Amino acid sequence: MKSIKPGRGPSMMGGISALFAALFGVFWIIVVLQSGGGFFAFFGVIFIAMALVQAWYNFHNASQKDRFSSFDIVDSREEMDPLDPRYAGQDDIPVRSSDSDAPRFCPYCGAELQSDYLYCPECGKKLR
Ligand SMILES: [Zn+2]
Repeated sequence: MKSIKPGRGPSMMGGISALFAALFGVFWIIVVLQSGGGFFAFFGVIFIAMALVQAWYNFHNASQKDRFSSFDIVDSREEMDPLDPRYAGQDDIPVRSSDSDAPRFCPYCGAELQSDYLYCPECGKKLR
């Protein structure tokens, strides 16, 4: 599995923006309470809570070693596409052949391989 992680710079900007959003929520509550809006001040509380979660997430990604991933790239052997069973066998959508039927290639030199090869016959490197 390969993961695409958010950049630290954009994460820092997102965290700072979230703090400003939380500040907006505070002003919202103040203005609503001063104008007698009562119940609508509650939306400011929700807004502040959402902003603080965003701020924590973004500052974590900006500063910590173990960033959350934006995308996880998995091979079909690691995690199947959940839509494959639904659409398999329908004529208008091409059904992907299983990986064992597809030709294998050496990751080092690109030579085409038999499926049971442990070593590349071209470059001699060990295959996984
Ligand atoms: Zn090779």
